[in-house]
Amino acid sequence: MTPGQETAPADVIIVGSGAAGGMAAYTLTKAGLRCLMLEAGRAYDPQAEVNMLAPESDAPLRGSGTPDKPFGYFDATVDGGWEVTGEPYTSAPGSDFKWWRPRMLGGRTNHWGRHVPRWGAYDFKPFSRDGLGVDWPISYDDVAPFYDRVEKMIGVNGGPIGLENHPDSPAECLMPPPKPRIPEMLIKATAESMGIPVRAAHTAVLTRDMPDPVAPRAACYNASPCTRGCTIGAMFQTTTSFLPQAKATGKLTVQTDAMVSRVLTDKAGRATGVEYVDRKTGMRHEVKAKAVVLAAGTGETTRLLLNSGTPGRGLANSSGELGRNLTDSTGASFTAYIPGLAGRPRYNEDGIGGQHIYIPFWLYEQQKRGELDFARGYHFEVWGRFGVPSSNVLPRVWGADLKKAVRQASGATIGMALRGEMIPNKDTYCEIDPGVKDRFGIPVLRFAFRFSQHEINQIAHGRKTAHAIFTRMGGRILDDPTLSPEKIMAAGGEIIHELGTARMGADKRSSVVDGYGQAWDVDNLVLMDGAIFASGAHKNPTLTILALALRSSERLAARFKSGAFA
Ligand SMILES: Cc1cc2nc3c(=O)[nH]c(=O)nc-3n(C[C@H](O)[C@H](O)[C@H](O)COP(=O)(O)OP(=O)(O)OC[C@H]3O[C@@H](n4cnc5c(N)ncnc54)[C@H](O)[C@@H]3O)c2cc1C
Ligand code: SF4
Repeated sequence: MTPGQETAPADVIIVGSGAAGGMAAYTLTKAGLRCLMLEAGRAYDPQAEVNMLAPESDAPLRGSGTPDKPFGYFDATVDGGWEVTGEPYTSAPGSDFKWWRPRMLGGRTNHWGRHVPRWGAYDFKPFSRDGLGVDWPISYDDVAPFYDRVEKMIGVNGGPIGLENHPDSPAECLMPPPKPRIPEMLIKATAESMGIPVRAAHTAVLTRDMPDPVAPRAACYNASPCTRGCTIGAMFQTTTSFLPQAKATGKLTVQTDAMVSRVLTDKAGRATGVEYVDRKTGMRHEVKAKAVVLAAGTGETTRLLLNSGTPGRGLANSSGELGRNLTDSTGASFTAYIPGLAGRPRYNEDGIGGQHIYIPFWLYEQQKRGELDFARGYHFEVWGRFGVPSSNVLPRVWGADLKKAVRQASGATIGMALRGEMIPNKDTYCEIDPGVKDRFGIPVLRFAFRFSQHEINQIAHGRKTAHAIFTRMGGRILDDPTLSPEKIMAAGGEIIHELGTARMGADKRSSVVDGYGQAWDVDNLVLMDGAIFASGAHKNPTLTILALALRSSERLAARFKSGAFA
């Protein structure tokens, strides 16, 4: 079915088909609402397109990244990345921000990292704890029932955490976690001997089959790189779960290659639909609906609003907060060669693709007592398994000796990737660049970005911790400890956890949407992606995006039922 074949306007237009858009489509169609999903990227079906088992050496450039395919040829990214042809963005002088855009049905869920920690009570009320940033209008208790349901819906494996500000999931919400690999066991033993906790990671990968009449998903068989996409549905992506399930209701129409350019409104200021550009023909179309859901991803959703409504001010921006309060996670990587792991017997330690364990932030008490010089937490995602060792751990030998050295060193390099919380600051925001348009004639975003001393100190602390763990293992540190923290930090946007720019709040004078993502100024416009976050956390955002999208979708469906859009 195409939009032209419809007999009546949809109840709801959903812009975007990633985590948030997928959840909206699933929930709203199950509630009986007719939805039109507009997705800028092309149609994509992992079951038809993904070769899960081809060796990386079969890929062009042996799988090395290029600007078109930042994570290599076999990675599921289609037409997306930090650079998208014909779709530029700009940076304010002195700012370095990299904006990842997916351009495919299912968005970033087709190739994401799948690490899905819950946020805790402090993460929703950061101002109350340390006087920085703002509190959310909702609390952990408001979101907890939705976390429970989302974990069961998408399939999350993991275990108890039992630490301050790391709420545990009820046991029935989680599938059993995989066993730690040998390098992970060593990291765990070493870190714990230093008083640093290590826990099973929470990962959106099935370790048990998930039967479903429409989109059955099988347990992970531990053998392939998940970022290519998963044809058996073991990793959560909307293209093998929510989208086919929503389509099966008969209530969902999906239009791909539909680049939405603005939200349309009537004289009363209510949303009437959207305008989109057909990416293949360049033709502009208008489609109507009773309500509009924006789930185009942080940045894109805000860009749409800035390009709608009043020129120069945008739509839903009476607070002036649209574009402000942008954050990304902080990031830095630390690696070491551990002689004790060299030459160990071979076994299959591929596992579920990502880390099996991680190090959650453990210093809230010390932070509260003022013993740390940074206000917000970080965690470590760890890695280490058999693979081709990098040249900097190999001796200068050739032929048979090199083969022997490679075998010996395989599986002896480990890494710890820091992900930390950034506090929103007034110098970090996005706005429309008045001088630049994309190939569709849509004005583009310009980003201003700056980390504060809190984030810089946090990176310095993380490096000290990681290096202390490596040293205790008898490891040789491979990253350069003499570089300044600023030099080793990922640039803004590189961790791809961008959040904020249309934050929620309790007061319409200082926020764009209410606690359900509903625009204060436009009551039939609901935002459902990371744009509405009032702040970030060191924990990855997507479980929270999904939980909030479920909560907002059910609220919207209830409003339809009560006649709000009759
Ligand atoms: C490599 C990688 C690893 C990651 N790892 C993790 C992780 O381990 N844990 C975690 O929590 N998060 C992770 N993330 C982030 C995670 O993918 C995102 O938080 C999540 O997918 C956001 O969901 P979304 O629905 O808001 O946006 P997206 O998934 O980006 O989907 C938005 C969709 O909207 C479409 N769109 C955009 N603009 C328009 C427009 N104008 N008109 C129509 N359609 C439009 C896009 O094409 C896209 O398909 C990772 C991301 C990447 C790329
Ligand atoms: S490792 Fe598991 S989740 Fe990842 S692609 Fe393979 S089967 Fe799917």
